[in-house]
Amino acid sequence: MNETDLTHLRRCVDLAREALEDGDEPFGSLLVSATGEVLFEDRNRVAGGDQTRHPEFEIARWAAAHLPPEERRDAVVYTSGEHCPMCAAAHAWVGLGRIVYATSSAQLGAWHAEWGVAPGPVAGLPIQAVAPGVPVEGPADQLVDEVKELQHRLAERSSR
Ligand code: ZN
Repeated sequence: MNETDLTHLRRCVDLAREALEDGDEPFGSLLVSATGEVLFEDRNRVAGGDQTRHPEFEIARWAAAHLPPEERRDAVVYTSGEHCPMCAAAHAWVGLGRIVYATSSAQLGAWHAEWGVAPGPVAGLPIQAVAPGVPVEGPADQLVDEVKELQHRLAERSSR
């Protein structure tokens, strides 16, 4: 993971913070082209009641609508938290390339256990258990504490 990767991941964490402060869950993601251009970005939008409004899922749909297959394959998805199985499947089905995440699903699961958060309806599988052909990199140790703090604020808010 290089400085460019970290810069993109920092933007994901900023989007995650924006989502949390807007009543959504703290997750943010970017789609970056092979030449380094940010093509699309989004953040979690589940507060309206649709629990599938994950940024990585929006990225997959956007890529399928806007990029030819060879550009999807060469694009990189950056995300504050590792893809859930739904998003990993969507990523693989549309033929997107490498994934770089700041924190893993295993880390999130451990934090939830530490804080007494009940497991959700979908297993926290690693991306490569769902999409074995996708190159994956993470976590980014420099950003773990910041993401953990955002997730902890969500857990506190949800328990009230
Ligand atoms: Zn997801």
